[in-house]
Amino acid sequence: MNHIPVEIIKKKRRGFALTTEEIDFFIQGYTKGEIPDYQMSALLMAIFFKKMDAAETLALTSSMLHSGEVVDFSFIPRIKVDKHSTGGVGDKTSLLIAPIVACLDVPVPMISGRGLGHTGGTLDKLESIPGFNTQLNLDQFKKMVASENLSFIGQTKEICPADKKIYALRDVTATVENLSLICASIMSKKIAEGIDALVLDVKYGSGAFMKNLEDARELAIHLMSVGKGAGKKITSLLTDMNQPLGRFAGNSLEVFECVEIFQGKTCLNLNGRDLYADTKKLSLHLAAHMAFLGGAAGSFEEALHKCEKVLESGAAYKKFEQICKVQGGDLSKLPLICDDKEAVQSQTAGFVESFNTEHIGVAGILLKAGRQTSADIIDPVSGIEFHKKTGDAVQPGEPLFSVYSKDPALRAAALQLLSKAIIVGPTKPTEIPLIAEVLRG
Ligand code: URA
Repeated sequence: MNHIPVEIIKKKRRGFALTTEEIDFFIQGYTKGEIPDYQMSALLMAIFFKKMDAAETLALTSSMLHSGEVVDFSFIPRIKVDKHSTGGVGDKTSLLIAPIVACLDVPVPMISGRGLGHTGGTLDKLESIPGFNTQLNLDQFKKMVASENLSFIGQTKEICPADKKIYALRDVTATVENLSLICASIMSKKIAEGIDALVLDVKYGSGAFMKNLEDARELAIHLMSVGKGAGKKITSLLTDMNQPLGRFAGNSLEVFECVEIFQGKTCLNLNGRDLYADTKKLSLHLAAHMAFLGGAAGSFEEALHKCEKVLESGAAYKKFEQICKVQGGDLSKLPLICDDKEAVQSQTAGFVESFNTEHIGVAGILLKAGRQTSADIIDPVSGIEFHKKTGDAVQPGEPLFSVYSKDPALRAAALQLLSKAIIVGPTKPTEIPLIAEVLRG
């Protein structure tokens, strides 16, 4: 049946539930280029304000999934597992996790996205490695997962083309933070990649799309119910994003951090805290849940032990180097940390009480580590370094952040925002656990 796009937009704007046919008409029409960006943007904003119910969310996920092919990995007779994060600042864990799990002979077909809203994206990070090609076709992707246990790609015209277009549009139309849109975006790609099991890193806090633990739990429950309906085994970790993860946010800076962790290095700040510790811990836990679901160990604890071993032995780094090579990337040409940096210094003594992590992500966009419009070109070497973590003691004049960019005007704009993105006060806050909950489906 033929529908009229503007009538569907009006119906949602008035708060009515759309039918499965109306949703499919819109999604397929948009994917084929028959419905323009401005009408899709209007529908996204109407969904943002009026929300979708569970049946609509399922219909949206299914329509986006069927906008392309579902990869058939039955020729690899093992459990295929992936991980996906709902998005954060400095969240580079995919780059560490995927090679660790692949080393344990669990195939990881990983389809990722670019930066979304104020959060970074795995594809942008990988593409900061000179030559790295994330646009493999379906055949190349399948062959690589079979031969290497791992391939990193983005949504393509074959796999989840609807998400490729809608994701880019949501990024620049302020329509990201909606449970149904996030759920459909993540689960359509993840089901399309032909996996059997999935580990979700559902983030909450000032730098996440879900600002509190309750909303993150609700999102996790929705994601898990869609995944379960599609026959996937899912584990969700609800994790803290009230402060950036690790030492850096910014594309090549985050790859550099991962290389340092792969090489067993630490980076102690003036308080004696290892700034890589949270990235490493979260990566190992997510990897261990994947390895356990993938049958590489009989218990989570055994899986964690195995993951630690492949990281410490250097095997995971070798695997990452190999994947970069096969996908055309030259890690030896990773841009060095640029000298063009300036710091935000503390004016007072005290403790780091909290961060506005979303503002830190926005400062990254100002530095061109993320996009303001879909046509923007990323500056792969720009970004932010974090010198302190929540609870650290601070003396006047100590650096809190450093910003990296060749452009002094962009550095100044980012510094201004960052100076307001941290609260230094008299009270040492109680520590928030990095991993708040684990939900098994
Ligand atoms: N990750 C995705 O792939 N999509 C979203 O909407 C949010 C996070």
